[in-house]
Amino acid sequence: MKLVKIDRRVTVKLALESAKATHEVLNQPAPLVDYNLFACDRVLASALEREGAAWAAPRLEEFGRLVGTEEAIRWGFQANENPPVLHTHDRFGHRVDEVEFHPAWHELMRLAIKHGLASLPWSEPTRGGHVARAALMMLASQNEAGHTCPVSMTYSSVPALRKQPDLAREWERHILSTRYDPRFRPLSEKSGALIGMAMTEKQGGSDVRANITLAESIEGGQTRSEYLITGHKWFCSAPMNDAFLVLAQALKGLTCFLLPRWTPDGERNRFHIQRLKDKLGNRSNASSEVEFDGAWAHRIGEEGRGVVTIIEMVQHTRLDCVIGSASLMRQAVVQAIHHARHRQAFGRSLIAQPLMQNVLADLCLESEAATMLMMRLARSFDARDGSAAERGFARLATAVAKYWVSKRGPAHVNEALECLGGNGFVEESILPRLYREAPLNSIWEGSGNVICLDILRAINKEPDAVASVGDEIRLARGADRHFDVFADRLEKDLPAAATEVEARRLAERLALALQASLLIRHSIPEVADAFCATRLANEGGRAFGTLPAYVRFRTIIERAYPG
Ligand SMILES: Cc1cc2nc3c(=O)[nH]c(=O)nc-3n(C[C@H](O)[C@H](O)[C@H](O)COP(=O)(O)OP(=O)(O)OC[C@H]3O[C@@H](n4cnc5c(N)ncnc54)[C@H](O)[C@@H]3O)c2cc1C
Repeated sequence: MKLVKIDRRVTVKLALESAKATHEVLNQPAPLVDYNLFACDRVLASALEREGAAWAAPRLEEFGRLVGTEEAIRWGFQANENPPVLHTHDRFGHRVDEVEFHPAWHELMRLAIKHGLASLPWSEPTRGGHVARAALMMLASQNEAGHTCPVSMTYSSVPALRKQPDLAREWERHILSTRYDPRFRPLSEKSGALIGMAMTEKQGGSDVRANITLAESIEGGQTRSEYLITGHKWFCSAPMNDAFLVLAQALKGLTCFLLPRWTPDGERNRFHIQRLKDKLGNRSNASSEVEFDGAWAHRIGEEGRGVVTIIEMVQHTRLDCVIGSASLMRQAVVQAIHHARHRQAFGRSLIAQPLMQNVLADLCLESEAATMLMMRLARSFDARDGSAAERGFARLATAVAKYWVSKRGPAHVNEALECLGGNGFVEESILPRLYREAPLNSIWEGSGNVICLDILRAINKEPDAVASVGDEIRLARGADRHFDVFADRLEKDLPAAATEVEARRLAERLALALQASLLIRHSIPEVADAFCATRLANEGGRAFGTLPAYVRFRTIIERAYPG
C-alpha cells in the first residue's frame, strides 16, 4: 500500500515536471519594446542633419525614447483593439453626434500634440521646421499610424487657413497649442483645437468638381463670409476635430469653407455623423459619413476658388502620406531584423541564413530610399517660400514620392511580415496592423492614377518643376554607370512622355531616379550600388530577396538596424 502511494507521488512529480517542460518557451524572440526609435535609425538621424534640422536631434532622441516605451507601444495596440464608438443621439433622442475614443487614443494624441507634430513648423518658424516635424511623424507613425491622421490634417490646415487672415487669427492660437484638449466644447472654452477636411462625396472623390453640397451666403452675416452648408460628405475622418475645411458649391462655383463643430452662438453646429466606416486598417481612427443640415460655415478665400485654396492643405497631407509609408516600411524591417536575429532555424540564427540576408537587405534598401526621399522632400517645404527651385521641386516631387513610396509600402510590409513566419500573421505582432495600414497612403489624398495624372499636369504645364527635379537627379551623375544610363534615358523621354497611359511608368522612373541620386550621394556604396543595379538595371528580380550574390548583405542590414 505504502509503495503504491510513493509510486503515485513520483508519477505525479514526473508528470508535473514534464508539463513544465512543455511550457518552457524556447527560440522565441523577446518583444521589441523599450528601445529608442530615433537612436537606432542612423539613416533618419543623418538625413535630419543634412536637410537642415540638426538642432532638433535632442527632441527626436526624447520622442524616440517615449514612443518606444512598452507603455506607448501598448497604447498603440489598445487604441486599435478598441476602435472608436459613435453616439448619434442621447437617451432622450437629441442628436449629439459624438465619437468616443479609448483612453489609449487620447494618450497617443496628447504625446503627439505636446511634441509639436501638428504645429512645429508654424509655431517655431526656424530653418528645418518641416524636416524636424517629418522626422517626429516618422517615429509616431511607427508606433501607431491612426492617430497621425488628425495630427496631419491639423498641421496641413494652416497654410490654407492663412488665406483668410481674420479666420487664421481666431483659430491659429488654438491649432498651434501644444495642449491636447479633446473636450467637445466651443473654441472659446478650449486650450487646443484640431482640424479635419471633408471633400469626398458619394458621387465623386477624386473628381471634387462633381461635389453637390451647397453653400448659401447668410444675408446680413456679420462679416459677409458666413454661409449655411447643406449636403453630405462620404468620407470625413476624425469627426471629433473642432472644425473642417469643406468644399461646397457657392454661387460662383466650388468654394472652400471652415465648418466648426460649434456655431459662433455656442450651439452645436448642424453637423450630423451618420455612421463610422468599418475599415480595413486605420482602425483606431474614426472615419465617418456626415451630413450638413444647414450647417454654419465661414468662407476661406474667394468664391469659386475652392480647389486652389484647399490644395495648399492637400499638398501637406500628401507629404504626410510619404512620411506614413516610409514609417511603416521602417517599422516593418526593424521588426523583421529583430526577429531574424533572435530566432534559430536549422541550427543557425535566421539572420545568418544567406537567403534571409538577401530578403532583409533588399527590404533595407527600399526603406532607406523611402526615408531619404521623404526627408529631402520635407526640406523643400522649408525652403520653398524663399526659392523658386525648391518650390518647383516640392510641386513635382511631392506627387512623385506620394505615388511611389506609397505603392512600395504594401509589398514591402508583406515581405517583412513573412520574415516572422507564422508569428507575423498574428495580431500580437504589430505586422498585421502595419499590413492593413499600408494601402491607405496610396488611396487617400489622391489615389495612384490621380496622382500620376497630376504628375503629367506638372510636367506639361510647369517647366520649372521639371527642371528642379532634373537638377536634383543630375547631382549624382558620373558615380554609377547604371544610374547614368537610367538618368540619360529619363531626361530624353521626359518631354515626349506626356500621355496618360504611360503616366505610372513615368512616375516610377522619376521616383527611382530621385531615390538613386540621393543614395549615391548620401548613403554607403554598398547600398547605392545594390539599389542602382536592381532598381535601375535588371540585376534583381521582381520579389524582394532577389539581390545578386555579390551584394554585401550584412553591411546593409547592420547599417539599417545596428545589432
Ligand atoms: C480611411 C479613409 C479616410 C478618408 N478620409 C477622408 C477625409 O477625411 N476627407 C475626405 O475628403 N476624404 C477622405 N477619404 C476619401 C479619399 O480621399 C478618397 O477615397 C480618394 O480621394 C479617392 O476618391 P473616391 O473614393 O471617390 O474614388 P474615385 O475618385 O471614384 O476613384 C476610384 C479609382 O479610380 C481612379 N481614377 C479616378 N479618376 C481617374 C482618371 N481620370 N483616370 C484613371 N483613373 C482614375 C482612382 O485613382 C481610383 O483608383 C478617406 C478615404 C479613406 C479610405
